[in-house]
Amino acid sequence: MIPGFATRPQRSSYDVVIVGGAIMGSSTAWFLTDNPDFNGSVLVLERDPTYAFASTTHTNSCIRQQFSTELNVRISQFAADFVKNLRERMGGDERVPELSIHSFGYLYLADTEDFAKRLRANQQVQRAAGAATELLSAEEIRAAHPFYNVDDVVLGSINRVDEGYWDGATVFDWWRRQARERGVEYVADEVVAMTKNAAGTLIESVTLASGDVIACGHVVNASGPRAKQTATLAEIDIPVEPRKRYTWIFKAEKPLEQDLPLTIDPSGVHVRENGGGTYLCGGHADHDPGVAFDDFIMDHTLWEAKIWPAIATRIPQFAAVKVQSEWVGHYAMNTFDHNAIAGPHPVIGNFLFLNGFSGHGLQQSPAMGRGTAEWLTYGAYCSLDLTPFHFNRISEGKPIPEYAVI
Ligand SMILES: Cc1cc2nc3c(=O)[nH]c(=O)nc-3n(C[C@H](O)[C@H](O)[C@H](O)COP(=O)(O)OP(=O)(O)OC[C@H]3O[C@@H](n4cnc5c(N)ncnc54)[C@H](O)[C@@H]3O)c2cc1C
Repeated sequence: MIPGFATRPQRSSYDVVIVGGAIMGSSTAWFLTDNPDFNGSVLVLERDPTYAFASTTHTNSCIRQQFSTELNVRISQFAADFVKNLRERMGGDERVPELSIHSFGYLYLADTEDFAKRLRANQQVQRAAGAATELLSAEEIRAAHPFYNVDDVVLGSINRVDEGYWDGATVFDWWRRQARERGVEYVADEVVAMTKNAAGTLIESVTLASGDVIACGHVVNASGPRAKQTATLAEIDIPVEPRKRYTWIFKAEKPLEQDLPLTIDPSGVHVRENGGGTYLCGGHADHDPGVAFDDFIMDHTLWEAKIWPAIATRIPQFAAVKVQSEWVGHYAMNTFDHNAIAGPHPVIGNFLFLNGFSGHGLQQSPAMGRGTAEWLTYGAYCSLDLTPFHFNRISEGKPIPEYAVI
């Protein structure tokens, strides 16, 4: 058995049952234990304690302020503050390392006037929320970063404050460690069924693959790309599906002489600094359907057909590179509006969503875990108001589109 995971729950009833023990489930568990007003019991159920297929272990672990939805900017601002003050946030625990953000910035490149218009509109939202986003002409980009080919570029958008790489794996690890030390149980088992009360307004219990039936005060769906499957157990349909996202680490024969911002090429391919003359590059196939939960097959044609040509055109110095490693992971894509789905179901009030992060969930985990813990404790949000992300916008057909999806 994997250390930290029990095979069976110690009790038959918990105040909060969290389905999925990766970063969202663990953030929620930790924030619950960090709140002196919460005195309940918490069970985290994880079907795969190796996390071999979780989004959390396939992530690129970056943070940005450049979103089109103001709430997302504020969510990332809290994440930046949390990461930069990790030890203090975790009670001054001397075992917890001090972290920083490697702020190389995200640089969005627009090659059409329509896209440039979108970047200008996004910048207004970001600046109003306090982000330091700057718009750059092609000449300004060339002057600051002579390695780019900007012949087709109409406009660029960059923010060098609290945008870049952070060590998400360490935060995930410490949330789990402290949550366990404070009494949260992590059990290796899969939730395979749920029962409701006669009125259909409450989840009464979850059934595990082992056969155990656990009564619950609240259930939190923190199942990542499997969110739809978990929601179906409560007879709820949510517009979230797994989408394949590919990552390559490569070494350049002639590394750049300065840090490479996380550059979002108009083709959708993105590439960033990875240290030591290596770079991280991400992208997906043009045909991008929802896939099976267990489909992690690598597309070996993609690098040569799409990814490398795009980056070598944008950065001619990347004409000579060597791929060192590659992997495929799943985004939990919210196909309705690309924003998180949070809070309670409007009818089944003790079923909470923590889903649909569409590729920006790692940086959202501090604020979403904190908010979910507040809702579980007080039935309301005390810090950042997450109600715009509640499920009712979906049932009412009122999307809040997030346009900055990478
Ligand atoms: C290639 C890639 C790059 C990314 N880059 C970034 C980035 O740079 N910045 C960023 O902010 N985000 C990024 N993301 C997104 C981010 O990683 C995810 O949004 C985040 O990790 C989601 O965490 P989660 O806990 O919701 O889901 P997951 O990590 O997928 O965890 C869900 C867990 O639930 C478990 N589970 C599912 N069903 C059940 C069940 N029935 N019973 C018990 N357990 C169950 C699963 O086993 C899994 O461990 C990236 C994602 C990918 C794939």
